[in-house]
Amino acid sequence: MSDIFPAIFFGHGNPMNALQTNLYTDAWRRIGTCMPKPRAILAISAHWSVPITAVTVSTAPRTIHDFGGFPPELYQVQYPAPGDPALAARVHQMLAPLPVAFDDSWGLDHGTWSVLKHAYPHADVPVVQLSMNDAQPAAAHFEIGQRIAGLRSEGVLIMGSGNLVHNLHTYAWGRHMPEPYDWATRFENTARNLMIARDHATLIDYESLGRDAMLSIPTPEHYLPLLYVLGTRQPSDALTFPVEGVDGGSISMLSVQIGAQ
Ligand code: ZN
Repeated sequence: MSDIFPAIFFGHGNPMNALQTNLYTDAWRRIGTCMPKPRAILAISAHWSVPITAVTVSTAPRTIHDFGGFPPELYQVQYPAPGDPALAARVHQMLAPLPVAFDDSWGLDHGTWSVLKHAYPHADVPVVQLSMNDAQPAAAHFEIGQRIAGLRSEGVLIMGSGNLVHNLHTYAWGRHMPEPYDWATRFENTARNLMIARDHATLIDYESLGRDAMLSIPTPEHYLPLLYVLGTRQPSDALTFPVEGVDGGSISMLSVQIGAQ
């Protein structure tokens, strides 16, 4: 067992994964059971992209149902993990002098709980969310990852939640699972190879990667959580992809794990 926790980017996909059992959720469950239980989780979710950098400080963060048009049972889901104000204060300290607001109005959004409901079904690991400042360029998100990397040796699991490829305009809602779009497959492969090559600069400058990247990342919020996770990467860290697949043709479910198995 390593003393340093991994950092993991989860492709969360359809919120209904919270209620379902499938290849993705089975893999999330395995991730939770195969590593020592972390002291706390710091989550960076696609669904908390706001004009400031903030951390949640509530001791009992609420479960946010931040979606529309899903079956009633999805709105009944609760994920009552405790918060961890001390971890929020630690993040504030690590990011200084960057201004970080202490937020007691957000909670856990579905980017976080739809995955953690499987990885830690007992909701017994404290969770803090860190917002993504949507006024900042991609490089700033990577740099925050670098600055919080030390949490990995303090018993904290750093979790990004988004989707490497996320195009809802082309997503096959309710239709039979088609083959992935060719541009989605190509971009996912390109990004994987860049990660293997440790070419973080090009991953940060993803807008330079042409049409496949533009179709895969029409808006940045589902991609940027990956950059936080990559920012924590140390020279000795292994890189693995514990979950893979493309849902509905245009949502990559790829997960990316940095560090210990
Ligand atoms: Zn999402």
